[in-house]
Amino acid sequence: AREALFQSQKIEAIGQLTGGIAHDFNNLLMAILGSLDLLRKRLPDDPNILRLVDNATRGALRGSALTQRMLTFARRRQLETRAVEIPELVGGMAELLAHSIGPSIVIEHRFPARLPPVATDENQLESALINLVVNARDAMPDGGTVTITAREARLREGEHAALQAGSYVVLAIEDTGVGIAAETLARVQEPFFTTKGPGKGTGLGLPMVRALAEQSGGTLDIRSTVGRGTCVEIWLPVAVSQVKATVSAPDEAAAMRR
Ligand code: ADP
Repeated sequence: AREALFQSQKIEAIGQLTGGIAHDFNNLLMAILGSLDLLRKRLPDDPNILRLVDNATRGALRGSALTQRMLTFARRRQLETRAVEIPELVGGMAELLAHSIGPSIVIEHRFPARLPPVATDENQLESALINLVVNARDAMPDGGTVTITAREARLREGEHAALQAGSYVVLAIEDTGVGIAAETLARVQEPFFTTKGPGKGTGLGLPMVRALAEQSGGTLDIRSTVGRGTCVEIWLPVAVSQVKATVSAPDEAAAMRR
């Protein structure tokens, strides 16, 4: 638990730092884009020169998209914990997920008939799922299958190194992609670790998912076999029926005292 706290403080600090840099950087890029736009209007009709301006514009736009993603990471708010029904949440995202990954990849869902709700932030869990499904897509350049499942797990004390005893739901996102070699797997949860190359990956996807899982009282487990695929498991604690009331009630009481 100490290690988890340390990790989440580290991610918090990196988030603030990243936010500051991304913000200033984005302003610079906007100024560059503005100048390029003016330049383009005043240039002679020479296709070679125009192509150079277009290249510069495209580069600046890519940089801007990257800084936007960093800003999103930095602006993560405190969790708004609710009781979340995973099958409903995933079902509601089916179209969005299919859209994010294109036609060569099939997404399958399999959920047990009865699954307890989990205590987590619904919006952040949606972002986490999008991140994981996009990672799965990137690992399957020739197509494949993403299987999303969930199961309930009751843990005794000491059964899982990172978790307390209790009831959890394990949300698993499994792909049939290239897999991750052991040396790489040891590093994939580090902030800014990416193998996707400049302009493509930020290395903030898995750290974000991990922070969400840990802040919810769960954890992130990743298993992978090179050439066969990867399975990312998000462990989230089962919601006690009171979650909604206990989260909002103290705030309201405090607001009324003010
Ligand atoms: P990013 O996607 O921006 O690189 P992530 O933190 O989401 O950042 O992922 C870090 C790295 O972990 C990726 O660059 C990739 O090497 C590896 N990775 C993540 N998910 C998968 C997956 N499903 N299959 C293979 N490799 C993966």
